[in-house]
Amino acid sequence: MTRDSRYDPLFEPIQLGPVTAPNRFYQVPHCSGMGYHRPQMMAAMRGVKAEGGWGVVCTEYCSIHASSDETPYPSASLRDADDVSNLRLMTDAVHAEGALAGVELWYGGFTSANLYSREVAMDVASLANEAKLGVPVQSQAMTLDDIQAFRQMHCDAAKRALDAGFDIVYVYGNHYYLLHNFLNPCFNQRDDEYGGVAENRVRLLREVIEDVRAIVAGRAAVAVRYSIPPNFADDPQGLIECFGYISELPDLWDITVNDYHLEMGSSRFVKEAANQTAIAALKALTSKPIVSVGRFTSPDTMLNQISAGTQDMIGAARPSIAEPFLPRKSTEGRLEDIRECIGCNVCYAHNSLGVPIRCTQNPTMGEEWRRGWHPERIEARHADQSVLVVGAGPAGLEAACALGQRGYRVILAEAEQELGGRINQESRLPGMAEYARVRDWRLGQLGRMENVDIYPENRLDADAIIGLESQHIVIATGASWRSDGVGRWRNTAFTGCDHADVVGVEQILRGRIPEGRVVIYDDDHYYLGTSVALLARANGCHVTLVTPAESLAGWSHFTDEHGPTMQALVEAGIEWVTARSLIGFEPGRVLLQCVFSGKPSQLEADQLIPISARIADDALWLALEGRRSELEQQGLLSLQRVGDCRAPGIIAAAVYAGHKAARELGCQQSEFKRDRVVV
Ligand code: ADP
Ligand code: SF4
Repeated sequence: MTRDSRYDPLFEPIQLGPVTAPNRFYQVPHCSGMGYHRPQMMAAMRGVKAEGGWGVVCTEYCSIHASSDETPYPSASLRDADDVSNLRLMTDAVHAEGALAGVELWYGGFTSANLYSREVAMDVASLANEAKLGVPVQSQAMTLDDIQAFRQMHCDAAKRALDAGFDIVYVYGNHYYLLHNFLNPCFNQRDDEYGGVAENRVRLLREVIEDVRAIVAGRAAVAVRYSIPPNFADDPQGLIECFGYISELPDLWDITVNDYHLEMGSSRFVKEAANQTAIAALKALTSKPIVSVGRFTSPDTMLNQISAGTQDMIGAARPSIAEPFLPRKSTEGRLEDIRECIGCNVCYAHNSLGVPIRCTQNPTMGEEWRRGWHPERIEARHADQSVLVVGAGPAGLEAACALGQRGYRVILAEAEQELGGRINQESRLPGMAEYARVRDWRLGQLGRMENVDIYPENRLDADAIIGLESQHIVIATGASWRSDGVGRWRNTAFTGCDHADVVGVEQILRGRIPEGRVVIYDDDHYYLGTSVALLARANGCHVTLVTPAESLAGWSHFTDEHGPTMQALVEAGIEWVTARSLIGFEPGRVLLQCVFSGKPSQLEADQLIPISARIADDALWLALEGRRSELEQQGLLSLQRVGDCRAPGIIAAAVYAGHKAARELGCQQSEFKRDRVVV
């Protein structure tokens, strides 16, 4: 198939100073959890994106000095010849596919606690380390000599960037890193020529742009990452005025809004292209090309930006993670094959945890090098054999999809009428509609596979399965939420857990409406507790969330959902109590205990919804294991369980497990390759 000509504007080349990008698809710098620790992994991942058609592919933030170290968050590095060799792996991989490679030179400032290097961070002033890690250290206020040294660091790094083969070199002027902090009058209270009026505050950024330009002149483009207020009229940092002094200096502007919760917003709170009004307003202030992100997941929204003249290139981090082949599928007219990002921020969460990113939608993300997985190619079946997949949640759907792609004869059986498992319930929670894409993309793919037969409303038991005489069986029967409070905090049931007013969250997920004064006990610490709270509140309940932890929904800090979640709870009028464990339920009240002192307390409640751990639904797998010899007599070659029925976890883990089972069927299972620096 060929491209619909209306998408042509997305495929027009564009001049960026001395280099030409082949199209408008631009993978902006994004963290990967790989950085300088895992250069082969990073190179392969970025190379796959270039293969998928992204015209520009950038690194993550790339440290230019030992005093810019955000360990435990992994960054790339461009500090010496070894770094140049490592990053060459990436530029070679990107160039091999005809794309441009960009590098984001980075000096952190007060955000860098330098836990690994033990150096002192410089910044515009002596500022306390940022709240995320909250390390009790401060930066050193820069002297004029420090400013000269800082400029020299950029010059040296820009030379190395050329040595490494980069086509675009970034100056990093936002995200509360050093150059941004000079712009900000709250931080910059200097009385020298770098402080005071906007022209002075922007001086260092201007000088660094000019320095880098002079180094890379004619050989690479200079891009500047810069942020603007989401609302132009409200600009306490004077970012628009500062912009006026440098608007024509770079070859490309990479613009974000000055609010990370908006820029990186999860789909629960921020929708596609949410910030483009502000971007469009800035576009009028420069003649230079602009790239900007907006979690654009579909080529149509991308096209709208180019057609409306809001921006010249389409910036993407998450959409390129979920669908590395988005540009290529767009140009091949395969729009229905585009796997759109769901905005869950599980990718970001794993960088926050210091490990390689992964993706709920794209199970191959991060596995391109170490497991050799490609998002579009998969080994053909090893033999003409049949596979029965039981359960059509994320794990079963992904397994059936990948097995179907390999060419096996697949039967997918699902007990419910609706395929999708947990996705069906969770995507109906407030703000979570985009999670349905996990189900819908796979159903779309399966619907086009003639070798896959799907049987909804078929709850299979061991007898029925034995009768099917399948050669391979993949059990993906999922898990269900406990209602007895057993989880991280408790390992025994709370008293009164079988009372009629104790409502299991499974019932809520299946449509029961909470009533009256509701207490939700959240010992899960991710999105479910707070989502159910918002649902109950929307149904008019008085809602109190209780958690044994010191803050609500603690894991959502990693996905950057915590702040918006708390804001939503406050705005909805939901109350919460922390550091209380659940002891029991009596009609009309929930009995609690302080986790520190053991002091008892109680809350009035008509209903209690406990959310703690889940129970793997492994009964079918156990029954089949017990009858393995019967199955083998009928030709069974393999039996495995995947996803939540093996070990309950996040949706991304279930998709990954389903994919892995399908990839490895009939193949030798191998340990993944380990990235390591050889001395
Ligand atoms: P996962 O996240 O591991 O994919 P889910 O709980 O989302 O798990 O999905 C499991 C699916 O398996 C559900 O849709 C459920 O209805 C289905 N299922 C459970 N037991 C059976 C069975 N015996 N036969 C067919 N389908 C089943
Ligand atoms: Fe999108 Fe979630 Fe994948 Fe990140 S992990 S790219 S947010 S689907």
